[in-house]
Amino acid sequence: MKFSKSQKLYEKGLVNLVGAVNSPVRAFASVGGNPLFIKKAKGSKIIDVDGNEYLDLVLSYGPMVIGHRHKKVQKAVHKALKNGYSFGASTENEIKLAKIVCDAFPGMDKVRFVNSGTEAVLSGIRLARAFTGKDKIIKFSGCYHGHQDALLVAAGSGLATLSLPGSLGVPEGAVKNTLIAEYNNLESVKAHFENHDDIAAVIIEPICGNMGVAIPQDNFLKELKDFLTSKGALLIADEVMTGFRSKFGGAQELLGVEADITCLGKVIGGGFPVGAYGARNKIMEKVAPLGGMYQAGTLSGNPIAMAGGISTLTELKRQNPYQKFDEIGAILEVILLETAKKYNVDLVVNRFGSMMNPFFTKNQVTNFKDAQTSDTKKFAVFFWEMIKNGVFLPPSQFEAWFLSSAISEKDIKIFANAVDKSMLAVSQ
Ligand code: PLP
Repeated sequence: MKFSKSQKLYEKGLVNLVGAVNSPVRAFASVGGNPLFIKKAKGSKIIDVDGNEYLDLVLSYGPMVIGHRHKKVQKAVHKALKNGYSFGASTENEIKLAKIVCDAFPGMDKVRFVNSGTEAVLSGIRLARAFTGKDKIIKFSGCYHGHQDALLVAAGSGLATLSLPGSLGVPEGAVKNTLIAEYNNLESVKAHFENHDDIAAVIIEPICGNMGVAIPQDNFLKELKDFLTSKGALLIADEVMTGFRSKFGGAQELLGVEADITCLGKVIGGGFPVGAYGARNKIMEKVAPLGGMYQAGTLSGNPIAMAGGISTLTELKRQNPYQKFDEIGAILEVILLETAKKYNVDLVVNRFGSMMNPFFTKNQVTNFKDAQTSDTKKFAVFFWEMIKNGVFLPPSQFEAWFLSSAISEKDIKIFANAVDKSMLAVSQ
């Protein structure tokens, strides 16, 4: 397999782009080697500039849930393009997408569209503070909620990949109202409430994908919600990754928990830049122009992104692939575990529906500390062998792998063959 054109573009990219990328994890820093440059994608596959084709388990870090370049999405976007790209005024499609989203999440009477998951979360946090009149927020270590200052502490995703405890440039004052708890540990949340009486909300990835996949144990989420209600604090579900992916109604539908504020992104734009936050009327009424919480956006509700979102969600609802996701996910999990056993490699696989990933460790992974016991050097070997055998994975131990409904039986064979070669390489 040749990567010479990617290599050339990488060198060229270094001149005017930082690390030749526009998002750090794309730089392949934790697996070594240089990033691949992508030319195009279709269905379950992605093709790099050297013409190498891969089964894509990155899927743009989640959004491409019905596969790349779905015909219906392309048609809807082409149609929207003909009418113009941005008006700075309202369009009917914003109302249509808002209805699809609010119907899927019973705890959302109203929604506000923004342009990314980061924006959705920073607005959701502001809203929690506006509604409760309190300042402090609890987040869980290993959860990632975008790159707003207040939440760039003990974060997963790219920070975990780069082993950064936080980010340069974030002033102490920006994180002084952020408290850290441990995922799956309600006592660690309760302890903060014993010491502080000004906690507005707890933000959580209800199924975490940013320390790798970590799953809420037992009744953790329900108990968390009940506890917060008893304290007059809000639960913010960051469903940027899980919204419309775990189930059409996100992790909340699956786990039977209703958050006070929900943040969305990724799938709701079908690959176009969209984020959203929503809640019941009494909370959303705080947002301008109804209330005093200011939040705005030049391109928010962008007509092309709305068309991408409506067509993706409509097709996703029609396909209802959630059972298929679970079945295929289970097959991939078994392939990973049995091949690891065959080559005597210590491996734990965490999976929730269409989100999964392996950790090269003996320990069960239920929180960030557990995740960090994974042997990232082994992951790096595994990653490159998977690439060489036609499977594109996130270039980090601490990112979830995703499935799309475009995945086929043939793709599963490609995966099994690649895992066999890669696990063998890890064992040597
Ligand atoms: N929240 C979660 C759970 C995420 O996984 C991400 C991104 O991966 C974000 C927020 C930030 O979203 P974006 O990258 O669109 O700003």
